[in-house]
Amino acid sequence: MRCIRLVAMAPVLALCVPLFGIAPVGAAERPQPKLIVTIVVDQYSSDLFTRYRPTYNPKVNGLARLASGVVFPRGHQGHAATETCPGHSTILTGAWPARTGIVANDWQDPALRRKSDGADTFSIYCVEKPGEKDSDAKKRVISPGFLLVPTLGERMHARDPNSRVVAVAGKDRSAVMLGGAKADLTLWWTEKGFETYRGEESRIPIAISNPGHDDDKNTVNYKVRASYASRTVPTLPASCANDTLKVDVPPKASVGVLQATEPNSKRWRATPAMDSLTVDAALEAMKALQLGQRSSIDLLAVSLSANDYVGHYFGTAGPEMCAQQVALDQSIGRLLAALDKTGVSYVVAFTADHGGLDLPERNRLRGIPSAQRISAELLPGKMGAELAKELGLSVNVVLGKNEFGNDVYLNPEIPPDQRAAALEAAARKYRAHPQVASVFTRNELIAAERPTGPVDEWTLLERAKASFNASRSGDLIVLLKPYVTTYLSPANLDTDYVASHGSPWGYDRRVPILFWWKGVRGFDQPTAVQTVDIVPTLASLIGLEINANEIDGRALPIVLDSR
Ligand code: ZN
Repeated sequence: MRCIRLVAMAPVLALCVPLFGIAPVGAAERPQPKLIVTIVVDQYSSDLFTRYRPTYNPKVNGLARLASGVVFPRGHQGHAATETCPGHSTILTGAWPARTGIVANDWQDPALRRKSDGADTFSIYCVEKPGEKDSDAKKRVISPGFLLVPTLGERMHARDPNSRVVAVAGKDRSAVMLGGAKADLTLWWTEKGFETYRGEESRIPIAISNPGHDDDKNTVNYKVRASYASRTVPTLPASCANDTLKVDVPPKASVGVLQATEPNSKRWRATPAMDSLTVDAALEAMKALQLGQRSSIDLLAVSLSANDYVGHYFGTAGPEMCAQQVALDQSIGRLLAALDKTGVSYVVAFTADHGGLDLPERNRLRGIPSAQRISAELLPGKMGAELAKELGLSVNVVLGKNEFGNDVYLNPEIPPDQRAAALEAAARKYRAHPQVASVFTRNELIAAERPTGPVDEWTLLERAKASFNASRSGDLIVLLKPYVTTYLSPANLDTDYVASHGSPWGYDRRVPILFWWKGVRGFDQPTAVQTVDIVPTLASLIGLEINANEIDGRALPIVLDSR
């Protein structure tokens, strides 16, 4: 029971009520962290959390421990473009992609023209260095230059230049978005091992990479490279016995049965080694930079990517994902155990960049008859060619080729006097397609009100508004109907991904948000909150002031009042 004094009433009453109210941060059990640890799991929906929460092992003390803290099972990435780069951009900025400027993993800049494989390309990768002339993905210079707002780490630095900020991830875009500009160390996995920004290689601790000594077996990067050669044979945990429903997605994929991952294959990224070695790199960085062990408050951000690759290769509801949950639990348990060992007072904030959708072939067997793969007619190359034919234009009307994205850009080569007609024709053609839910023009989005109501009740226009940045978003925003997977059948596509995310629907937007610290009084709060609430919540914990006009979130009440 807790007691509330109602001073406004006369005579003064003290009411004791059951413990369902919570007090704002600042109450008696407020933690005093020296280290903020942010853990992001890529493609970890609220649906996954709910399904596997009972299976996380208390002895491993990883996800079960975090789930014993303050749990918002219905957190949201509020925006429509539920991809990795926009999703990571919200987590440590407190801002929607509309404000972070990270509207997609890749967007088109009609004013930009570069060559890629001999053809013109307008595509920009969210963490490439702005202004680069080379569009070759292999030569890309990675940079936080497109992120328009400061991260929590930058704000901590601005308050106390001695604060240290480290971001480590399986993907470059994840590490860059969490660390932002001026992080002390930003590390992401590449085939060669964990790398950082060009020119900052000397910041990588020697325990991760020993310059000139690639054969140093003690380094994390040596272990990364050595792990490629081993065949990974997963075992099916007993708790996964009910998750075996074999689905064939001819001719390349068969999911629902645990299969060995061949040595040196791209599927290495979907094996436990990916997350485990990311944790190794994070721990070595933490040690080398003495995070939490000096007078300042530091920040460690870790993004674990294997979950996303398992989702893409095998879907979200089979034995592969179930086995991944066991590995994920162990990796997080190991990270937390190492943090405990340092004796540092730390607070964990845990969430995901987006959710995910199981493959349509299995969803149809599981009660969703409308689940289907995208029609090739909606891919920009085909749609643009059809429109050109209709309009008598000699150029493809829509930029892009084989990948569907919510943002649709008109080709800059369409003559000015024909652009309005082209836009209208494109909007009409998308709207007429049976797989399309809504089409908004950029003028509609510019005019739309900023969303203010509960995030789970936003209209599609509001979701698109949170994703919309006028200088980067498309001329049209095309949103597909629920349960449309944006990958074609593997038979028709040069990828072996079978399942996707990226939609404005609940399965892609809902992500758990968890807070844990030693001594936390845990509770579940089922109201819909947002990942942009994480920064103001953490800032409140460490007494860091942020102007409310600079962010889109609000501080969540995570400390129970024990009076
Ligand atoms: Zn992702």
